[in-house]
Amino acid sequence: MLYVDGKWVEEGLAAVDPEDRGYNFGDGVYEVIRIYKGKLYMWDAHIERMYRSAREIKMELPWSAAELREVAEQLMDKNPDEAKDDAIIYMQISRGATPRVHDIPAQSKPVLMAFVRKKERPVAEQKKGLTAHLIEDVRWLRCDIKSLSLLGAVLVKEYAKDAGAHDAILHRNGVITECSASNLFVVKDGALHTHQADNLILHGITRQIVIDLAKANGIPVHENAFTIDFLMQADEVFLTSTTQEVMPFVSVNGQAIADGKVGSVTQKLQALFEQHIDAEVLV
Ligand code: PMP
Repeated sequence: MLYVDGKWVEEGLAAVDPEDRGYNFGDGVYEVIRIYKGKLYMWDAHIERMYRSAREIKMELPWSAAELREVAEQLMDKNPDEAKDDAIIYMQISRGATPRVHDIPAQSKPVLMAFVRKKERPVAEQKKGLTAHLIEDVRWLRCDIKSLSLLGAVLVKEYAKDAGAHDAILHRNGVITECSASNLFVVKDGALHTHQADNLILHGITRQIVIDLAKANGIPVHENAFTIDFLMQADEVFLTSTTQEVMPFVSVNGQAIADGKVGSVTQKLQALFEQHIDAEVLV
């Protein structure tokens, strides 16, 4: 069962209004929330970010955080096979259907849609690591908004795939920003480096957890943009995201990072992240 605009709808029977602004313009926001062992993980942080994204696009949400939580809980109850172990909830809010004009009509009424899908943790890839290709960051200048308009992300991921890599590491004029759907960290001389949380990256929930875990465990963190040269000289490179967690990159543009193996700081953070999951979903 899917949740579409206040109703529960069987899979395959949902309809989109042809003038829905999410559909026409990518005018809306979304979140992807993890479920571990049948329990929501970091729910509050995701919902806070969704309110922030909505505010930034001048969209007033008619639902309280408690009402959104109720939708998520019911979604899990109605889809026990999908939601019982490790899964994700996709929740999107479009600005709704209006006559097709670019400015925002006063009568627009947001439409909430949500579904849940089984999603295993990518444990094998986390042990082995992925390959990356450097791609110019062709997205817009408000990457801090979790917007439905994802064509830039779609294209950079596709360019990386065309180059034979798993994912894109994005740069603007030689300065690294993030990946197609995740944040990027490098390890150099025992310290973490990642782009500052400004308008050029999404302020990842996993990014913040990893920063906090690192600091709490004596690993220094520098939230400062760095260059392609710095990346290529790194001791370790990894991405963070809700679905991929702490995922190493072992090569960039066909060049091995250090010895081409998953590094010890990355492994340490993976272990700390795992403990964080366990602690969060046990309460
Ligand atoms: N950056 C981008 C561009 C993303 O789309 C995402 C989400 N998949 C992230 C970073 C990671 O954010 P989070 O850790 O909150 O999933």
